[in-house]
Amino acid sequence: MKKQLIYILGTLLLLLAACTEKDATVSPDKVKGSASDVKTVDENSNEKVDRHAETEKDGNERIAEEATEPLYELNPETYAIEPIGDANPKVVLLTIDDAPDKQALEMARTLKELEAPAIFFVNGHFLTTDEKKTVLKEIHDMGFMIGNHTKTHANLKAISVEQQREEILTVNDTVEEVIGERPVFFRAPFGVNTDFSKTLAEQDGMLLMNWSFGYDWEKKYMDADALADIMVNTEFLRDGANLLMHDREWTAEALEKIVVGLRGKGYELVDPSTIKVAGE
Ligand SMILES: [Zn+2]
Repeated sequence: MKKQLIYILGTLLLLLAACTEKDATVSPDKVKGSASDVKTVDENSNEKVDRHAETEKDGNERIAEEATEPLYELNPETYAIEPIGDANPKVVLLTIDDAPDKQALEMARTLKELEAPAIFFVNGHFLTTDEKKTVLKEIHDMGFMIGNHTKTHANLKAISVEQQREEILTVNDTVEEVIGERPVFFRAPFGVNTDFSKTLAEQDGMLLMNWSFGYDWEKKYMDADALADIMVNTEFLRDGANLLMHDREWTAEALEKIVVGLRGKGYELVDPSTIKVAGE
């Protein structure tokens, strides 16, 4: 909790915002501050990847680095990524769910090679061995953000409140144990949330998101070429789209084409660490 407060409030606003919740909303000054950062957003994204790749030697320094003003916020209705101030609106967010199963590490390497940021939403049932925990650490060390996708990929509406708590919090505990920080993004399996899961995610410092579109679970798109084509040419591709992909063989194979295709259409891949998260 303390760490979270420091993360959220940064340096100057710390005391002020700690006293009153409403200071956490974006003030005109903050928006202005973000705007002046926009020109260097690409550069910052790349730097961020490098910084994450370094061993965490100085926790305070790391917190200070990350306590920068968010450039984007999530639309809670559409789950689209929207600019704060005049950040580039022509962005899309890449997300990889059901990780780390068999393809996540390769997918992370492909994305890293392309300098394409993404969130990997992980399930606890994939994090039961040292080998898989090492994979998680590697993905994080390559600069990718780690989101919570529950322990067993349960439908949260079909289980008790206690089970939901277990599904959600144990993943954060495991991720924290492995990478030293708790996830700040939550995505419910099947996009199905309950009032309880929404509250719990927020209480544990996570921003809840579903997605705008995705295709890799449909039979006709379980093929790299077909998937790469639809991900880039779908009518649902628009500014701020939140793209859902999975740890799957055909998706791993299509990934480079998808990234190149999206960039070819003029979209920048948003760095998820620039998205305003819960409580910010
Ligand atoms: Zn899933």
